[in-house]
Parts: sequence; structure tokens; C-alpha cells
Amino acid sequence: MVSKQIEARGVSDPKVLAAMRKVPRHFFVSEALWDQAYGDYPLPIGEQQTISQPYIVAEMTQALQPGEEDRVLEIGTGSGYQAAILAEIVFRVYTIERIYPLYVKTRKLFDKLHYHNIVTKYSDGTTGWADESPFDAIIVTAGAPEIPKLLVSQLSVGGRMVIPVGNHYSQDLIKVYKDERGIHKNSLGGCRFVKLVGEHGWRE
Ligand code: SAH
Repeated sequence: MVSKQIEARGVSDPKVLAAMRKVPRHFFVSEALWDQAYGDYPLPIGEQQTISQPYIVAEMTQALQPGEEDRVLEIGTGSGYQAAILAEIVFRVYTIERIYPLYVKTRKLFDKLHYHNIVTKYSDGTTGWADESPFDAIIVTAGAPEIPKLLVSQLSVGGRMVIPVGNHYSQDLIKVYKDERGIHKNSLGGCRFVKLVGEHGWRE
């Protein structure tokens, strides 16, 4: 999976490649899908949600420029796979999920796999996690109509954010960098995510 799907497409951060080699992706999908867990595509995880394609996870993780002291916020826990990849690299991951059964199931999985540096919360992530802010990096793993301002405000100076922005069918993967002067945006290319649903996202 890593050499053919990820390194071959240009992801080169050694920390990201090591994490992608280490985390057992099949544990994050149902047993019926284990034979497809390392394929070059997203997979269903129940509740009409999906675990992202391995390459997208790697690309987004690299774009966050994760460092070992970093505290990272993720919006959209889902299967927990993206959070686990980050938890291999950074100091602590804070992740928010709005669908209760996914939140419960994934919390149990993190405990089973001994991811003690992942903090979970059941809530609408479009308002962020003010009590734990600012974050060194924020990753949104659902497609937003626009960049939620509260999330930008919870990013530290020098912080990075990656978020898919667009309509229901396709989005641009946007990287945001925040410095003393404000924010700077650039596009990493097209992508397709499930909807970010919430107060500062799409309506249900
Ligand atoms: N990072 C996940 C991707 C899961 S798909 C993984 O690695 O598997 C996106 C997830 O975002 C879904 O579980 C969906 O329920 C969740 N989501 C959508 N809008 C949200 C919101 N406002 N707050 C928190 N989670 C949200």
C-alpha cells in the first residue's frame, strides 16, 4: 500500500510513511471488508460515512506538517484511522465526531489499540474545541461549504489547517497557513468527502 499508492504519488515525509506502514488499517473497517482494507479506495464504515482512501490520508497528514510536540484537532473521527495515523506522529490528537454510534465504537477501538494520546468528543466540530485551543494543526475530514471562522481562530500562529471546501459532489483540498499577518490559502487539488454537517457547515 505505502510504496505503490503513497510514495509513488509523491508523499515523502518519513514520519508520515512510517505511520502509514505501522497502523493496521483493517482494524478500522468491519471484518467483512478486511480483504479490501489496503486497497486504493475509500470504504464504508456505517452510518453512510467512509474511511478515506489511504493516499488522501497520507497527503493530508503530510500537508499538516505534523511535529512530535504538536497538539492536533481533527473534525470527523469516523473510523479513527486518520486520528491513529496522526497519533503515531504528534503529542496529542483531539478528535470530534457528531454521529454517536461512530463516536462510541471508535473510542472503544482507540482504547483496545492503546492510543492513549487520542482525546475524543461527541459534538458538532464546526465550532471547534475552544477549551483546548489553540492547536498547532487542524484537519477537517468532511467537506465544508466554506472554512469555518471559529476553526481558524483556534489555530495558533504558525498553525496549519487542511480542509476540503466545495459543494456536495466535489471539493478542493485547501491548506491554510496562519501567521502574524493573517491566513494564507493554497489548493492541493480536487477531492471528494462526505458532508461536514453542523452549525458552520452544511444543514442536515
Ligand atoms: N477521519 C475519518 C473520516 C470519516 S468520514 C476516518 O479516518 O475514518 C467523516 C466523518 O465526519 C463522519 O464520521 C461524519 O459523521 C463526521 N462529521 C461530519 N460533520 C461533522 C461535524 N460537524 N462534527 C464532527 N464530525 C462530523
